[in-house]
Amino acid sequence: MSGIRPTGFLHLGNYFGAIRNYLRMQEDFDCFFMVADLHSLTTHPDTRELKANVHRVLAENIACGLDPGKVALYCQSHVHETAELYLYLNMLAYKGELEKTTTFKDKVRLNPENVNAGLLTYPVLQTADIILHRAKYVPVGKDQEQHLEMARNFVNRFNHRYGEVFPEPQAFNYNQELVKVPSLDGTGKMSKSENQMATLYLADEDELIRKKVMKAKTDSGPVDPETPKPDYIENLFGLMRLVCAEDVVKKFETDYAQCSIRYGDMKKQLGEDMVQFISPIRQKAKDILDNEEYLKQVMEQGAEKANRSAAATMLLVREAMGLNYYH
Ligand code: AMP
Repeated sequence: MSGIRPTGFLHLGNYFGAIRNYLRMQEDFDCFFMVADLHSLTTHPDTRELKANVHRVLAENIACGLDPGKVALYCQSHVHETAELYLYLNMLAYKGELEKTTTFKDKVRLNPENVNAGLLTYPVLQTADIILHRAKYVPVGKDQEQHLEMARNFVNRFNHRYGEVFPEPQAFNYNQELVKVPSLDGTGKMSKSENQMATLYLADEDELIRKKVMKAKTDSGPVDPETPKPDYIENLFGLMRLVCAEDVVKKFETDYAQCSIRYGDMKKQLGEDMVQFISPIRQKAKDILDNEEYLKQVMEQGAEKANRSAAATMLLVREAMGLNYYH
């Protein structure tokens, strides 16, 4: 189970950190992937763009290869039990631990005018999303590690107080290590809303992709063969490994090791291969976005699957909590 907030255009961080794993998991597991529209209200209270953004996240996920026939692809707000479970979990979450959450502190710093209770209890809502399907594996990027640790704490408290209902959820990545895709300028990470010229979006036009890659931070290259790669160079190699042929990556690795690397050539190659990677996704997402009827069907089908699973879990939850007074 995993989710993406509809707060803007999807980018390579979302792809590397999350979607790439969704695509493999859909072959191996029973999966629930949602558009986290309720979460977006904690930071984006203006809902005028919400519908367009929800449609975009759905379309871009499908364009990347997610199959709504194989997984439950749904909107968070279409599953009302989420709110009920969130309420129960709020009684098991403590103010002190919520205030210490890194993402909460970051968001308070970014927007001190809107420190609402939803923002504080964000990890509680996220736990509700996950355990509503009694999910074990949560494919997410590295930024979500702490939230998953909190989810395990809430689950353990619930199970301890009311009986074993939920498995412990864990952050999941086929390649073991959770991923963080840094921004092209070497500061921070790729993001939907910040640092837009240093983030590659799945909707970027070809020329813009080339331009962003050419502007990526490099230096004059190593002079000593033993020099480890700085983060921003390792990041460029990381991006190459995703989209370039193996022998191409090898050639630049060898050039680096021999101190003969030309970053201009490397970025040109990366730019072209990135265009090859992103442009079919962009085109496909455009076609899907034009087909509102199809998107509606996807949402309905996803909601039906998610609601069925949520209803089954909530029967267990109410029973375990002693909220069942008829028998
Ligand atoms: P968000 O865009 O914050 O709603 O996150 C959706 C998913 O993408 C989550 O699993 C995040 O961990 C992941 N994600 C977002 N940005 C990055 C990034 N720069 N690197 C790796 N994963 C990311």
